[in-house]
Amino acid sequence: MEFLRPATWDEALAAKAEHPTALPISGGTDVMVEMNFDVHRPSAILDLNRITELTEWTVDGEVVRLGAAVPYARIIEELSGPLPGLALAAHTVGSPQIRNRGSVGGNLGAASPAGDSHPALLAAGRDVYVEAHSVRGVRLVPIDEFYVGVKRHSLEPDELIRAVRIPVADGPQQFSKIGTRNAMVIAVCAFGFALHPKDGTVGTGIGSAAPTPRRAVEAEEYLRGVLAERGLWESGELLGSEVVRRFGELVQAAASPIDDVRGTADYRRHALAVMARRTLTWCWNDYSKQIRSAA
Ligand SMILES: Cc1cc2nc3c(=O)[nH]c(=O)nc-3n(C[C@H](O)[C@H](O)[C@H](O)COP(=O)(O)OP(=O)(O)OC[C@H]3O[C@@H](n4cnc5c(N)ncnc54)[C@H](O)[C@@H]3O)c2cc1C
Repeated sequence: MEFLRPATWDEALAAKAEHPTALPISGGTDVMVEMNFDVHRPSAILDLNRITELTEWTVDGEVVRLGAAVPYARIIEELSGPLPGLALAAHTVGSPQIRNRGSVGGNLGAASPAGDSHPALLAAGRDVYVEAHSVRGVRLVPIDEFYVGVKRHSLEPDELIRAVRIPVADGPQQFSKIGTRNAMVIAVCAFGFALHPKDGTVGTGIGSAAPTPRRAVEAEEYLRGVLAERGLWESGELLGSEVVRRFGELVQAAASPIDDVRGTADYRRHALAVMARRTLTWCWNDYSKQIRSAA
């Protein structure tokens, strides 16, 4: 097996162009496990650990550009203000050791329907983009076009993830995950939710309850309509149990889960409705408090 160790981003892109089947390795928390279990026997490994810009993040106006290899521990510590939903999701990943190594770039590269960053990225807004770089140029892939099948993404063989562009939160965000215990657990199912008062939209992300992570589009549209028609963004008044219940039902309907070792499809549907109702209520209560205290 060849071991490629580029020192710069340009060298990494050139190496990927020359060896399109080379398996990139960042934190290694997925790659090493899969190699140990013989899931992969790549002809070459492309080690991205010398490329320091992958571990940097910047804020450009209203957008965070999160380097692909920024580890979860730093997202929690440094980005819980601008990216609260992603920071909450990062809190639930593995253990401190995994959070020190694992990254959003690696979560995207693995594209597991159970990856915890996906629901938070999907909920964070319409303008979340994965930066896919190659020697041919840069492609901005909208997050909901990134996932194309179970553990399959839309990167071309010569492309690498440089960063993810995520809008700075303009309202409360939440993330909820169900596992068989409190830590070191793959999600039975998960849900991300965000309020976007600036453009009057809401964001959702379903994890581990469909072949790919996905948004609950009808639930988003339903809630957007109710909030606008009733002037709730301005008044901050309570939503009422009927709205919360209907939102939960629509989230549940957007999932297409399976029975597997971690849970049944029925349980996942039930749990999603509960998580949707809870995260909506938490976010709306926070938003409502902000509006009322500003009045
Ligand atoms: C004990 C344990 C517990 C875990 N718990 C969780 C959990 O709770 N939640 C969760 O979501 N995950 C969990 N994971 C899985 C893993 O930690 C995450 O998926 C993590 O985000 C992977 O990041 P990484 O940097 O280690 O990726 P790596 O293992 O380095 O790579 C993962 C995949 O992404 C590709 N890749 C990496 N970087 C790039 C890049 N820049 N461009 C293109 N492709 C790239 C690799 O080729 C590979 O296919 C756990 C893993 C372990 C071992």
